[in-house]
Amino acid sequence: MRYIDTDIAIIGAGIAGAGVAAELAGDFKVVLIEQEDRPGYHSTGRSAATFIRNYGNATIRALSRASAPLFEGADRTLFPQPLLVQRGLLYVADADGLSKQAELLASADGLLEISAAEAVAKVPVLRPEKIAAAAYEEDAQDIDVAALHEGWLRKARGGGAEVLTKAPLLRALREGGKWEIETPTSRIRADILVNAAGAWADRVARESGVEPLGLTPMRRSIAVVPAPQGLDIMGWPLVADAAEGWYFKPDAGKLFISPAEEIPVEPHDAFVDDMVMAEGLYRFEQAVDVPVTRVERSWAGLRTFAPDRTPVAGFDSTAENFFWLAGHGGYGIQTAPALSHLAGQSIRRTNLPDDLAALVPALSPDRFRS
Ligand SMILES: Cc1cc2nc3c(=O)[nH]c(=O)nc-3n(C[C@H](O)[C@H](O)[C@H](O)COP(=O)(O)OP(=O)(O)OC[C@H]3O[C@@H](n4cnc5c(N)ncnc54)[C@H](O)[C@@H]3O)c2cc1C
Repeated sequence: MRYIDTDIAIIGAGIAGAGVAAELAGDFKVVLIEQEDRPGYHSTGRSAATFIRNYGNATIRALSRASAPLFEGADRTLFPQPLLVQRGLLYVADADGLSKQAELLASADGLLEISAAEAVAKVPVLRPEKIAAAAYEEDAQDIDVAALHEGWLRKARGGGAEVLTKAPLLRALREGGKWEIETPTSRIRADILVNAAGAWADRVARESGVEPLGLTPMRRSIAVVPAPQGLDIMGWPLVADAAEGWYFKPDAGKLFISPAEEIPVEPHDAFVDDMVMAEGLYRFEQAVDVPVTRVERSWAGLRTFAPDRTPVAGFDSTAENFFWLAGHGGYGIQTAPALSHLAGQSIRRTNLPDDLAALVPALSPDRFRS
């Protein structure tokens, strides 16, 4: 049994935990507590790794806007390669998806209507007769998620943070002005507990004697299939059905295809539902003129949403020094730079830049407390 005294204990070493650890280590003693044998095993290691500025509600978009310069101006010593690489995003709608497409166009900046012929010129496998409307956003990028996550963990460790793996939280108790945190192999005393437990965040709250917020993990899966023969796919944009029936994008010479499902589940090590995948691949095949002959591999992950689909980042007013950093939904990577900074500054109780300060009420866990 190890006994550790620290300033800040962070439950979860996904992108959220790693980002806030990198913000705080060096100035505070930080311990990251991760149940798996390696950080990033759950949602962070299973994403589609895309940055879409027009994705999500107004708060998500503001977080994404604030994250863009942090991605682009990232410390070159920590991140020698660019974290964002140009991809582009093409929305297509069939007749049933026209109203959804109109909604997207009305609410988006930099998303431009294009013709079906222009869409097919960008992605020649699309069936023109299935395209009732199309729109293109140039400013969408691939994110190097592994580089970001590993870079932040390196920075945190460089600042003295310790990462405990195979350390599931058993319980946490506020006693004598400190959090007393138990894992099977350690007892940790911390001033502040940060709940960055992804799909398990409500469970971690319960295990800490804190009222959960009603977060819902939703499963989403991805299949990797060979590129259509004879086509150079690397310059293709991400192509998404406006009605969210599927999306696909090139990745390392293969195609990622997602059924874009949102299925509420209990937190667990997510796996693909074969029927859901088969239906998604069928919808994809209706939109393109190449069949899926082989799925090389596939995986599922959990996108965890608060009831208003906005992340939760802030101290809980009902539990002393309990900080929520959860509910990142399908945008947890692209918003991570801004959310990590906001969380770090909030924990330091230091002023935030105006654009982030304006988001604090929308992100606060207190919006769910009556
Ligand atoms: C298929 C898919 C596609 C996606 N595509 C994108 C995308 O293109 N762009 C984007 O921005 N986002 C995307 N996302 C969302 C993104 O992956 C998540 O929002 C993000 O990874 C959440 O990070 P996190 O650190 O909160 O969660 P996680 O990465 O799940 O980390 C939480 C960690 O907490 C640990 N933990 C939980 N409970 C305990 C406990 N009791 N004790 C100790 N440790 C614990 C877990 O083991 C886990 O490692 C996608 C997600 C999926 C599934």
